[in-house]
Amino acid sequence: MELRPLISVLFVFIHQLAFSLQSKEQVLLDMRASGSELGWLTLPYENGWEIVQTVVNGSLFYTYSVCSIDSTEQENWLRTTFIQRRPGTSRVSVELRFVVRDCNSFDGASVACKETFNLFISEADADVGTNFRKGQFRKVATIAPDEVTKGRELKVNTETRIVGPMSKEGFYLAFQDMGTCVALLSVRVYYKSCPSTVQSLAAFPETVADALTVVEGACVENAVSQATPRIYCTAEGEWVVPVGQCQCLSGYETTGESCQACKPGYFKPYASSELCQVCPDNTKPSSTGATECQCEEGFFRSPSDPPTSPCSAPPSAPRELTSTTLSADGRLQLSWSPPLVTGGRSDLTYSVVCEHCEASLCTPCGEKMRYHPGHTGLRDATVVVSDLDSHLNYTFTVEAHSGVSQYGTDRPTATITTALDYTDPPKVTLIHLDDRSPTSLSLSWTLSRRPPVHINHRYELMYRRKDDDGERDVTTYTVVISDKSSVQINDLTPNTTYTFRVQALSPEGNPGSYSTEHEFHTSPIAESQVQGNSTMVMGAVVGVAVILLVVVAVLLLRKRLRSHVRGGPEDPYFSTDQLKPLKTYIDPHMYEDPNIAIQKFVTEIDPTAISKQKVIGVGEFGEVFWGVMKPHGRPEVPVAIKTLKLGYSEKQRQDFLSEASIMGQFSHPNIIRLEGVVTKFKHAMIVTEYMENGALDIYLKDRDGELPSYQLVGMLRGIAAGMKYLSDMNYVHRDLAARNVLVNSNLECKVSDFGLSRVLEDDAEGTYTTRGGKIPIRWTAPEAIAFRKFTSASDVWSFGIVMWEVMAFGERPYWDMSNHEVMKAINEAFRLPAPMDCPSAIYQLMFQCWQHDRSTRPRFSDIVNILDKLLRNPESLKTIADFDPRVSIRLPSTSHCDGPLFGSVPEWLESIKMSQYYESFTRAGITTMEQVLSLRHEDIRNIGVRLPGHMKRIAYSILGLKDEISSLSVFSV
Ligand code: AMP
Repeated sequence: MELRPLISVLFVFIHQLAFSLQSKEQVLLDMRASGSELGWLTLPYENGWEIVQTVVNGSLFYTYSVCSIDSTEQENWLRTTFIQRRPGTSRVSVELRFVVRDCNSFDGASVACKETFNLFISEADADVGTNFRKGQFRKVATIAPDEVTKGRELKVNTETRIVGPMSKEGFYLAFQDMGTCVALLSVRVYYKSCPSTVQSLAAFPETVADALTVVEGACVENAVSQATPRIYCTAEGEWVVPVGQCQCLSGYETTGESCQACKPGYFKPYASSELCQVCPDNTKPSSTGATECQCEEGFFRSPSDPPTSPCSAPPSAPRELTSTTLSADGRLQLSWSPPLVTGGRSDLTYSVVCEHCEASLCTPCGEKMRYHPGHTGLRDATVVVSDLDSHLNYTFTVEAHSGVSQYGTDRPTATITTALDYTDPPKVTLIHLDDRSPTSLSLSWTLSRRPPVHINHRYELMYRRKDDDGERDVTTYTVVISDKSSVQINDLTPNTTYTFRVQALSPEGNPGSYSTEHEFHTSPIAESQVQGNSTMVMGAVVGVAVILLVVVAVLLLRKRLRSHVRGGPEDPYFSTDQLKPLKTYIDPHMYEDPNIAIQKFVTEIDPTAISKQKVIGVGEFGEVFWGVMKPHGRPEVPVAIKTLKLGYSEKQRQDFLSEASIMGQFSHPNIIRLEGVVTKFKHAMIVTEYMENGALDIYLKDRDGELPSYQLVGMLRGIAAGMKYLSDMNYVHRDLAARNVLVNSNLECKVSDFGLSRVLEDDAEGTYTTRGGKIPIRWTAPEAIAFRKFTSASDVWSFGIVMWEVMAFGERPYWDMSNHEVMKAINEAFRLPAPMDCPSAIYQLMFQCWQHDRSTRPRFSDIVNILDKLLRNPESLKTIADFDPRVSIRLPSTSHCDGPLFGSVPEWLESIKMSQYYESFTRAGITTMEQVLSLRHEDIRNIGVRLPGHMKRIAYSILGLKDEISSLSVFSV
């Protein structure tokens, strides 16, 4: 037969194949490996497949072949023995290696010759022996060669088929030949498995690779994992996607796929994939498998320090504690150097305690004084203490703290006993006119800070006639030395303006800086008769040793011509009527041509004398600049320049300039001074004196809680004086509010913004109805809102609101109530409550300004007098008005009437305008109002609220909440 040569060549090939068998494959049947008679069934018995036996290298191999190509209708079967299926395998791979002879290679090839054969399978629960029934087999595949063998060189084909799924205990395979010349060299039946493995410190068992299967593993010794480690075994027998790592326990580290104890001197505090670390500084050497290194003697860790941190020593005392008196009112700066031993910690803080010590008895200083930024938890080695009494000694103890200070044996403190020590005398900020007659002026002044009780300042006052500078080249000043802050100047010329400057002198005679120049006018003769009596009483010169040193300070001054100087006897608006004010304001709108008003009241400035430097604000008509003005032959002065934006109409230009023609009529230290205007130039400008500290409301907001009441009242006094001047001129401002008051570098306040204002008409009550326009509701008196009756009395109401704004450090009046709610509350007789820390006398005064009946409100002259009295006697400011914390949290808004008032912490913080602390509260875990209600003073500080004013507001609000008073909260008249 032709088949013989084919088979003889096969043995060489089989020999090579025997050494390449290796895999993660689990073999169920391997025809060649059996090496002995296979015992496979053939059918028909002697006429189909036949077995060929060959010895290679001493081993016996069997192959099956068939080559019945001569006759048609061949059907030769070869069936394997029973193959046991392994549990968990439903599919197996069948790998066949075979050689098929090319039909064309046979001479006179039979039409019956084929080149394929078929693979069949039959499942069975038990071995059926030789009971072979074709009908029980199903076909798996037709097996065709990739290459047929033509000559002597054998073309071996390999085909693998996956057979399954199977469910019975085992199966038979069968090969059906239909007339092919084929030799079956090898049949291998196997399934794949993923071998047992250790991955990421987790051990996984060997697993049958049937389909993608998830396999659970277990951590190796001394390793743990949070979730059971898992991995997938693919059908190809590969492990993929390990999930859930194991990590070596504390005290153990990874080496390869196991965990080993840390070496001595090393430690590992947590179960992690990290390696053991060297013991940190200041610790004792550790033993094998350490989870922590203990601190050396004298070194500690705070409870919050991680075991990885070095141990540290408690801090030593702060060093070089010194105190410096700051120039501002009653403030002392304490500074010190950090302790020598800081323990290398970053949580070093300081606390400051104040005591009054006499003999060996010390008592706490009380709560009046304020610390900036605070008195505990200080990170910087400095603190500013304010509101100190200048005549007292203070003992300050500064203590250093760190996370381990509690383990120290003694308290690391530094102590200093000190007192305020002013080297410079205070500055005279304001000069007030207390009384006047045709020949005398009674003046008093206020100081930038309260003089210490034990220091007796004296004052030097210089004055001269104002018209002196225009008439002669020589100006003569008269100098008066007084040891009181008031003086009466006699022997003056009636109806004449004098200018005054005052400076304080230290007990050694060192001068402070001069006040700005103030002008006062003696009364005309007629007025003196009316006031004769009171002048005589007042004239009993304030029992002071007034030493009159006449010094002729000869100053060569160039003749200064100010073309807009108004108010000589030739001025038609200058009144000599003793009962009327000296001058009456003229509404520029009364002029048919408003340009005439401008020419009349305002100085035209050469635009080249002005240079704009920086935008500082935006007004109704355009930007406001800070700049400098250099008038011809005079020194440069800083100025504010209001500009008119381009594209204006003639009406807008006139409205813009009308503010200048109003301002130009005023001359008072508390009214913003007009320098002049630029009108003959494309860009119209209004030039005024520059107020370094800008608008009062913003100025105060930026210094919330930082200024003493004395200073605030001094500011109010200035505003009141300006308003008195305006009301004396019959001018009604109509928009008096802190935002329209400007503050200069000496903290002098000046009324500004005359845009809205209108002159009074001639009617008896001095009221008039506007032509419409916006009304600032929360600053405006009820009658002005209801009937448009704007009078100086309605300005007084607004002044009361300004008083409230000032004492509340720029807080918005009536907070976030709507305008409608404000009007309703006012009509129902509610009034703003006293701001926190407001002196009682000041609250009473503002309260008077809010009398519904305007005739019972004080006049500005009364207000100035009252404020002066209070300032002269600062003790009178010590009684503080009741502060009702509930008002800041419950306003008479109908929306809050039912249900809980403040459901959430952010709502509550918002309601007391402390939203900026929301994050701090959240960080401290204070997220519910129940938690808020349980906060103590300490807790609020620890949350990060440092400013005393804010501390108080929050603490008071919590008290108010606890009170559970559900009635109306705005102060009721
Ligand atoms: P006004 O148009 O007067 O309301 O001015 C707008 C803003 O410009 C004010 O709120 C101030 O911040 C600033 N401003 C106006 N005039 C002056 C001034 N004389 N000195 C300093 N800032 C000023």
